[in-house]
Amino acid sequence: MEPLYLPQLANRRDRTLEIVVDTTVAEFDTLTPVRGKIVVKHGGTYLDVSAQTETILTLKCDRCLQQYNHRLALNATEIIWLEAEDPEPPRAGVEIKNELEELVESLPPDGHFQPDVWLYEQLCLAVPLRKLCNQDCAGITPIESPPEAQPSAPVKLDSRWGILEGLKDRLENG
Ligand SMILES: [Zn+2]
Repeated sequence: MEPLYLPQLANRRDRTLEIVVDTTVAEFDTLTPVRGKIVVKHGGTYLDVSAQTETILTLKCDRCLQQYNHRLALNATEIIWLEAEDPEPPRAGVEIKNELEELVESLPPDGHFQPDVWLYEQLCLAVPLRKLCNQDCAGITPIESPPEAQPSAPVKLDSRWGILEGLKDRLENG
């Protein structure tokens, strides 16, 4: 998928580009190609990006550790703000606020939108956090240790999801 030059998208008659997706995604292992579409709409000060795709991937059950195939249907929408890079360095003492700001996607108005990178991020987010081969899976040791107490398998994520996880923990624990 080619990077999209934003001023060019803004000059299209309907300011919208539909990208047909039928591809494997780098660093995201799937059994079948990711198929569907991405629609990118230029809203002047923002991009409205949405995707509907389907694929099948192999996951490992949190309870019994068996591998199983999971049909991953992605139905995602995101607003990406178009604004010039903030030249101001991050200030100390407002750590959480800064982390939240980093979670809001933005692009320079004269920059490029990379559909493949965006799709990769959305697919990572769509992978279920709780992986069960089946809702009634009894697991390996159902009596001694309840599955809820076991940490789920570490998932390879990029650092931004790490920030999100850390933030979530802090919000939940105090
Ligand atoms: Zn299982």
